[in-house]
Amino acid sequence: MALCGWWSPRPSERSSRWISGQWRRLAAGVRQACRAGVCLESDSPMEPSNEHFDVLIVGAGLSGIGAACHLQRNCQGRSWAIVEARDRLGGTWDLFKYPGIRSDSDMYTLGYSFKPWREAKAIADGSSILRYVEQTARENGVQERIRYRHRAVRAEWDSARARWTVTVERGGDTPETVELTCSFLLMCGGYYRYDGGYTPRFPGIERFSGELVHPQHWPEHLDYAGRRVVVIGSGATAVTLVPAMARSAAHVTMLQRSPSYVVSLPGEDRIADALRRALPAKTAYAITRWKNVLRTMVSVQLSRRRPELMKRLLRAGLERQLPAGYDIDTHFKPRYNPWDQRLCLVPDGDLFRAISGGRASVVTDEIDTFTEGGVKLSSGAELEADVIVTATGLSLQALGGIELAVDGREMELGRTMTYKGMMLSDVPNLAIALGYTNASWTLKCDLTCEYVCRLLNHMAARGYSSCTPRRDPTVGELPFIDFSSGYVLRAIDKFPKQGARAPWRLYQNYALDILSLRRGALEDGVLEFAKAGSVAVDAVEPVAI
Ligand SMILES: Cc1cc2nc3c(=O)[nH]c(=O)nc-3n(C[C@H](O)[C@H](O)[C@H](O)COP(=O)(O)OP(=O)(O)OC[C@H]3O[C@@H](n4cnc5c(N)ncnc54)[C@H](O)[C@@H]3O)c2cc1C
Repeated sequence: MALCGWWSPRPSERSSRWISGQWRRLAAGVRQACRAGVCLESDSPMEPSNEHFDVLIVGAGLSGIGAACHLQRNCQGRSWAIVEARDRLGGTWDLFKYPGIRSDSDMYTLGYSFKPWREAKAIADGSSILRYVEQTARENGVQERIRYRHRAVRAEWDSARARWTVTVERGGDTPETVELTCSFLLMCGGYYRYDGGYTPRFPGIERFSGELVHPQHWPEHLDYAGRRVVVIGSGATAVTLVPAMARSAAHVTMLQRSPSYVVSLPGEDRIADALRRALPAKTAYAITRWKNVLRTMVSVQLSRRRPELMKRLLRAGLERQLPAGYDIDTHFKPRYNPWDQRLCLVPDGDLFRAISGGRASVVTDEIDTFTEGGVKLSSGAELEADVIVTATGLSLQALGGIELAVDGREMELGRTMTYKGMMLSDVPNLAIALGYTNASWTLKCDLTCEYVCRLLNHMAARGYSSCTPRRDPTVGELPFIDFSSGYVLRAIDKFPKQGARAPWRLYQNYALDILSLRRGALEDGVLEFAKAGSVAVDAVEPVAI
């Protein structure tokens, strides 16, 4: 896996890192001088830009479009733009094209708080979700403010000017570099790399003569009808792919090293449908949203407090849906407790129906080696395949891979601590839209965006130009995500830490976040506010927040 900018260097890398840091600082100094008018002409390839925004959003996925709508609605009069590395909006819901691509949480909670989900399916397919995001962007006048093919690669905060200078690579194969400035940076770049998913080093993989596919790069014309398919993996992607491919493949085998918890939920929500028929759309949506929030909270709390009871409930569901005598212990009894990793949801038991119908099967074993015709397993068994899908996960990446510097000091993300799970210690005027691991992503992103709007309005009313969560050295550090999934453990040191107590603690709890983000005091003694001119500076410009 390629490493992102804030990876702690090995000792041998430190000197070159120091030199490149010095160059960056020198370049930043030259650029600052140019902006101050010292340098009237420049033959530098960096194109200086006069464009300044009150808020710059990075990323036009579900979160970035939501963030823009919140700004549009609650922070009127602010200038803002979105930079998006790709040439389309939608992020995840535009990128993934594998068969059956769908949400694995319900759309009443994955949808935005301000835009009711009106379709019948609660567990929705990727194209419906993309349509919903596009429609939201159109209805809120967001589309014309998106700058496509603009990849933010670096952001430098300057306290003297109370603004970020964001270096952006613009264009396609040979991008040019431009700079934009903003008073507040809102990071909505998701949590994984777009250029490649994660594939472990499987021995002999090059020998396989069939088609090898990663779900993140699904070939448009892959024909698997009537062919033997092996899907390697046991996560949300694998349990989506298996029943979808089993509809036309000769047979699909899900090959997993160890099982996950899999739970079936109705693809359509009858209560939501009834409420929609009886009540105005917004009211029905709000009630359904809360119903589903509470259902997930109960499931998470029960798993934490009574894991054995939860295991029995999940098993009873499996026994109802799998054929009599099916070996649940081997294939569906994980070694961890429910919600130590995300539960895999299957709509209307489609995976279990494919297994019961003989179109799909599960093999729990380790790969010894790939062969020309498939895979040989540690048990000695062989699986023959025409197509192998490596549903082995994502390569996590924080902050859209951008480098951060504050007043010339490089910020190593792994050394920062998250404030309320959405700002970073000692990093001014920056928020990150990240979702929950145990509930729908958008629930947290909506709260984060509400908080940011509240913060911006508060700062404007009081004449503040910056706000910085100041790290308290007495607060103990904890990993950012308390999950045992491989994809989390592989990357956790590149993510910020969370703290052992509020407001540094990441509770992964919507109700507590409502209290903290929607109702909590902005001036809490941890978030430090400053007015332009209160920092020792050479030249201070007026700042519009
Ligand atoms: C297959 C799949 C299914 C999922 N299903 C669910 C689900 O059912 N429920 C749920 O809660 N979560 C789900 N998730 C998590 C999902 O990613 C989020 O729900 C949500 O879509 C994330 O939206 P986002 O906008 O934050 O990030 P993304 O969708 O990743 O979008 C980020 C955008 O930012 C852009 N970007 C990134 N870095 C930069 C940069 N440096 N400069 C400019 N642009 C940049 C990217 O190009 C992209 O367009 C799923 C994830 C996957 C992969």
